Amino acid sequence: MREILSLGVDLGGTKTEIALVKRSLAEPGEAPKAIEVLLRRRTPTGGEKGYDAVLATVTELVRGVAAEIGIDTRDLPVGVGMPGSVTRREGFVKNSNTVCLNGRPFREDLSRALGREAAFENDANCFALAEARLGAGKQVREGVVFGVILGTGVGGGIVFDGKPWGGLQGLGGEWGHHPVGPWRRQRNAPATEVRDVGAGLSERPQCFCGKMGCLELYAAGPAVERDYLRRTGRSARLPEIAAARGSDVHAAAAIDEMLEAFGRGLATVIDILDPSLIVLGGGVSNLEFLYTEGVERVAAYVLNDELLTPIVRHELGDSAGVLGAALLSS
Ligand SMILES: [Zn+2]
Repeated sequence: MREILSLGVDLGGTKTEIALVKRSLAEPGEAPKAIEVLLRRRTPTGGEKGYDAVLATVTELVRGVAAEIGIDTRDLPVGVGMPGSVTRREGFVKNSNTVCLNGRPFREDLSRALGREAAFENDANCFALAEARLGAGKQVREGVVFGVILGTGVGGGIVFDGKPWGGLQGLGGEWGHHPVGPWRRQRNAPATEVRDVGAGLSERPQCFCGKMGCLELYAAGPAVERDYLRRTGRSARLPEIAAARGSDVHAAAAIDEMLEAFGRGLATVIDILDPSLIVLGGGVSNLEFLYTEGVERVAAYVLNDELLTPIVRHELGDSAGVLGAALLSS
């Protein structure tokens, strides 16, 4: 059994978290070992101060931990998880909510500052990796674990045989911008031709990605809140809307559209990847009915007469991002 230390960096829009972990590498055929978190630090990302400041923040965090344990940064594997992606060809950041990083060679600059190559993945892939190896998916021995982020946006990550599968362009798992609506049951269509399994979806404004009908426009938390506001003229937060669905028809309708989009979207993912497990994370994943009514909607749309795929809640909470980042380097 070999023990290694590695460092995970979760580079968020407002805060950056770092964790030093110790893990025992499993021998081939052996069950993965638990990992031990030796220390954690958290600091503001400081994106408003610009690219050089963010680079310095991350570099200093890593150097500080390395100095504390008496290791040269060249001997300490580092993985970084962040929103957006690093383009495969040029190594530039794109789609990060720390906007000063976009278009800049952050991976290359950080690797140069640390004296070793840092591993990068987007935060959804880190979430999926951590849950697959250490959390809800740790019993899964083979195949795909699909990690879903349902929060202010909708994202996802694929883990295949214990490794993140970012894909050729780093797009693997990005299911949030596939169109799910609006489409409705055709009037007068014979029942044998159209499966009338759910409600219709109302039209939504164009998505920031430029397309119409994206899943994120229905299933993200702010999307449900905007839909409720449009229906009632009243602002309410998602938990409040969810709690009111028994007594408020507008709340019920807004939640129903969210469930419908969730069902259509996740069924498509299952038809393509047929994952061994789907794990839900992000703020919206705390809604209990996703695991009952939401799963029923998925079952209604999946191309099978039964749904065997376990769709479960995350186990690691907020720690998944930083732990997944630490698992990137091995
Ligand atoms: Zn979109």
